Amino acid sequence: MAKAALVTGGSSGIGLAIARMLRSEGCGLTLAARNRERLEGAAGELDAHAVVADVAKEDDCKRIVAEHGARFDRLDVLVNSAGVGAGARIEDIETKHWDLQLDVNLRGAFLVTRFALPLLKQSHGLVVNISSIAGEIAAPGLSAYGAAKAGLISLTRSLNAEHADDGIRATAICPGFVDTPMAAWTGMASEEMIQPDDCAEVVRLLLRLSPRARIPQVVVERLGS
Ligand code: NAD
Repeated sequence: MAKAALVTGGSSGIGLAIARMLRSEGCGLTLAARNRERLEGAAGELDAHAVVADVAKEDDCKRIVAEHGARFDRLDVLVNSAGVGAGARIEDIETKHWDLQLDVNLRGAFLVTRFALPLLKQSHGLVVNISSIAGEIAAPGLSAYGAAKAGLISLTRSLNAEHADDGIRATAICPGFVDTPMAAWTGMASEEMIQPDDCAEVVRLLLRLSPRARIPQVVVERLGS
């Protein structure tokens, strides 16, 4: 039976690039994201199952995995790419903006992964968490985002520590600015940024590894300051 993958945030940017790559590798796909129109557009292009969901809600995380399981009955690759960013310094950040970034970027990835573990165990699956270089290097105004992304790197390590015996491998990808709608605020030209396909190629490499090889973290730096 063909392999199957689930990509949160699969309607746009990095998640969509990874979803396209996974499709080209022959995977059946479930894409989950918030915006129905964009999600259905991406799912139509990739012949994927679409689940409109908010990963900040536990019930939605459960439903994403349940719908994927009902459709494919296996999960070989889980990509947690759903994410949001809202810049503000520690002394100014609104509590609701802190909570949203932690809820979507960290708690959502935790919940989807936890619900997916039974399927991942069966397939000796791969978990790819899209973290950020902001989880490694502090930048003014990115306290909540950086904390969530550092937490995601730590969650990735914990997954590897707890589930190696199940044959599950997890990788945190930590890119600098990537040319997606999320980075539009920077005003940078597309060619100055990392491309979403660069992240997809990192995941393709992970798919090629033999079962006992694991890469826990990949930092993708952007040339330039
Ligand atoms: P994007 O805005 O193009 O895509 C974000 C995706 O996440 C969309 O599909 C959106 O629907 C989904 N999403 C957001 N909130 C959601 C929620 N509550 N529930 C379900 N889905 C939700 O941005 P992107 O750059 O592709 O971001 C993908 C991931 O990459 C994010 O986790 C982001 O933090 C990370 N990242 C981005 C950059 C960058 O510069 N673009 C750099 C490093 C890491």
